[in-house]
Amino acid sequence: MKKKVVTEKELKPKNWAAITKQVTDLTEKMAKTQNKKKEVWVNRARCTICGDVIESKSVHDFVQCECGKIFVDGGHEYRRLGFEKVTDIEVWDSKAGKFKPLKN
Ligand SMILES: [Zn+2]
Repeated sequence: MKKKVVTEKELKPKNWAAITKQVTDLTEKMAKTQNKKKEVWVNRARCTICGDVIESKSVHDFVQCECGKIFVDGGHEYRRLGFEKVTDIEVWDSKAGKFKPLKN
């Protein structure tokens, strides 16, 4: 194969500024998408004993259900769950858009 020789002119295309802008736009778009994902992520659970739906909306937002069997904590940063029995709790699955048992 013949080796391709790249001239300085080819290295710096006329539309360099446009390419740079495209990359910047793409980076911003990615950052926005990531932020959006973070907002959408829901830390929500349902108690199968009392039927109460609880949601932790911030890091130190500790929420307990009416009967006190379960709790959620951690907001959008992390998910901390509490329960007596694993069958006492169902967690919100954002993808499926419904509550799912913690263990099948
Ligand atoms: Zn409960």
